[in-house]
Amino acid sequence: MDRDDPQNKKRISIREGLFTTPLVPVEQAKLIGSQCKDCSEISLGKRQTCSNCGGVNLEEIPLSRQGKLWTYTVIRHKPPGDYKGPDPFVPFGLGLVEIPEGIRVLSPIQCDLEGIKVGMDLELEVYPLYTDENKNEVLAFRFRPV
Ligand SMILES: [Zn+2]
Repeated sequence: MDRDDPQNKKRISIREGLFTTPLVPVEQAKLIGSQCKDCSEISLGKRQTCSNCGGVNLEEIPLSRQGKLWTYTVIRHKPPGDYKGPDPFVPFGLGLVEIPEGIRVLSPIQCDLEGIKVGMDLELEVYPLYTDENKNEVLAFRFRPV
């Protein structure tokens, strides 16, 4: 059994159409992509129109949990606005992760900043970012070293 006792809490995605369901266990959740049937372009998340050709024949596909770090930067200052990360702020890597489907996903990289390297193998981690006012666990994603 899950030690977090999911019976009492509902898990919801930070953005609709971002993850495959069910969200329990989170280890099996994947990111959703939308593939255009006209031009084959793949975009992150559930979409109504293709960002490449504007077509509307999109098909939902589960994206791979594995990827490689394509490039990254380190965020050293707390982002403005409604930031939900740790308080006090902890610097983190923000990278573009290339997944086998050929797209690059912008994602926090959960990794020791000393060890972060372009080309490193990463895997998806879906995790509770915060608990909202209705006691729902709000799930976000990041990538971490394999
Ligand atoms: Zn298209």
